[in-house]
Amino acid sequence: MSLKLSAAGKLHREFLKEITNEPVEITRLHVALMKTSEDLHLALVTLVADKDGDITEHTIFENGEPPLTEDAVKFFYDTSIEGEITVSFVPTGTKFSKDEAELLELFAIDCLFYFERVGAAKRAEEASLRNYQTGMLNSGGFIRQVMMLLVQRHPSDYAAFGFNLRGFGQINRRFGRRAADEIMKRYTYIITGSIEPDEAIGHLGGDNFVAFIKKSREHEFLGFISEIYVPSPLDDTDMIRIGATVGIWDIERDDIDYGDIVDTAQIALQQAKNVMRQPVVRISEHMLNQISRQKEVIDKFDEAINNEEFVVYYQPKVNSRTNTLVGAEGLVRWMHKGEMISPGVFIPALEQSGEIVRLDKYMLEHICADIIRWKEAGLEPVPVSVNFSRRDLAEKSLAKSINNIVSESGVIKDLIQVEVTETTDLDEHGELAEFINQLYTYGIMTAIDDFGSGYSTLSTLREFQVHTLKIDRSFINTDDFSWKDEIILTDIIHMARELDIHVVTEGVEREDQLQFVNRAGCDVIQGYFYDRPLPVSDFEKRLKSKQY
Ligand code: C2E
Ligand code: CA
Ligand code: CA
Repeated sequence: MSLKLSAAGKLHREFLKEITNEPVEITRLHVALMKTSEDLHLALVTLVADKDGDITEHTIFENGEPPLTEDAVKFFYDTSIEGEITVSFVPTGTKFSKDEAELLELFAIDCLFYFERVGAAKRAEEASLRNYQTGMLNSGGFIRQVMMLLVQRHPSDYAAFGFNLRGFGQINRRFGRRAADEIMKRYTYIITGSIEPDEAIGHLGGDNFVAFIKKSREHEFLGFISEIYVPSPLDDTDMIRIGATVGIWDIERDDIDYGDIVDTAQIALQQAKNVMRQPVVRISEHMLNQISRQKEVIDKFDEAINNEEFVVYYQPKVNSRTNTLVGAEGLVRWMHKGEMISPGVFIPALEQSGEIVRLDKYMLEHICADIIRWKEAGLEPVPVSVNFSRRDLAEKSLAKSINNIVSESGVIKDLIQVEVTETTDLDEHGELAEFINQLYTYGIMTAIDDFGSGYSTLSTLREFQVHTLKIDRSFINTDDFSWKDEIILTDIIHMARELDIHVVTEGVEREDQLQFVNRAGCDVIQGYFYDRPLPVSDFEKRLKSKQY
């Protein structure tokens, strides 16, 4: 049986058509050869790759017909990547004719190219699943590995770790970039060796890692990554200690998305690094819910502020000797879809995202507008304090912006007071001093909020041009006031007087608390005893009479 040339061309075209389909995989050669096997009386096609003596044999076609092995036609190629390759075609029935053998050579070349393409595709896929620097699985590779593990096991058997090396920047500076890269390689070699076959570990880039560890080994693994010693590339006897900041998610459910494992481990790590600032943080379901709520807040914030969904509530400050209204604090409330949301719910999220400064300026603008409106309505305003978050101080020109807002509104500066919380951090201390002193030169008063809730002492405030101290409500929040509390509070109030600083006590709810505070020497009170934070229309009634 011999093959006509026109038919040969057609066969070849069919073969090529098949192997140009996606995906690129070796079984496609089998399908392509199936289509030609009958006309070419093929029994068996093999491809043998000999890569430096490392021999792999691929049967790329076999149809069960008796093969005439002695009549096989073989083609031999020397390739640079896959090594020496032999493609053999074994006929069934009769020997191949000369024409057929010529056609087979074409097929052999196609098979060779295709085989190389499969190899390249496999290598590309492998590479796309690995970190190019360390060869560890990257996030895609890690997720694939986890998926494979979870065919046989449950997510709830595992804990997901997100970890970040501590002080790697310092290693970079100390050893230089090249040595630091080598240290990183050695480190990854050590941690890769520390996990078991039914666990996974990945390198997300930089000095960020993720691991999927059996709960039974959680403590062991945590102990391990908390302190790893890597021999220095400059001197093998010098061991470099590498610690890590770690976020852990103890997976409690089985109905999770695989991608959540990397994401949640990273969230846990962020909590450890940036929010709680602790070396190890275990994230709970409760925290996860909170974080997703916070994310929601941040997502909705832009629209909410444009729609003016934030409103000012005013909480009166009352002089308890004269029973008159002497001031107020503006407190934010979020009116969202008929619901009133408290600042405790959204302020932390906005502080974290850095958008709080927009809200605080918005509050100041609205408070200034209310004061102007009161004046125009014939009401005599009282000074109102506005909260500025410590986070806002990152904006170097904040004092100037505040001054601009107040000036442009036309409100006289005596009617605005800026509240900021105290700090124990030395760096922040300087920042705070500068902020307060700048405001002072603009003629704007400041109050230190929540005084006494931290560790600051009055002496640290000497260098600040502070107008008012707001005594934290923890001072009076006890059921029985000890003589010690009274002495401390009395001292603070006296010292404040000497420094010419005014004092307001917050959180007074009951008569006995009021008496305690009065005894200690403070007359100005902000608390539920007199009023809760009020909607503006209710506060306007207080402004009218000013009497309690
Ligand atoms: P803060 O500045 O210390 O405000 C006083 C908080 O104590 C207010 O809570 C007020 O309602 C509450 N309070 C007042 N008197 C009493 C009392 O007698 N008993 C009790 N239990 N609580 C009392 P609020 O309005 O929920 O605000 C909570 C915190 O949110 C504020 O604490 C402040 O840190 C922050 N905040 C509120 N509005 C703003 C704002 O516009 N900007 C910024 N950055 N933070 C704000
Ligand atoms: Ca305040
Ligand atoms: Ca306060």
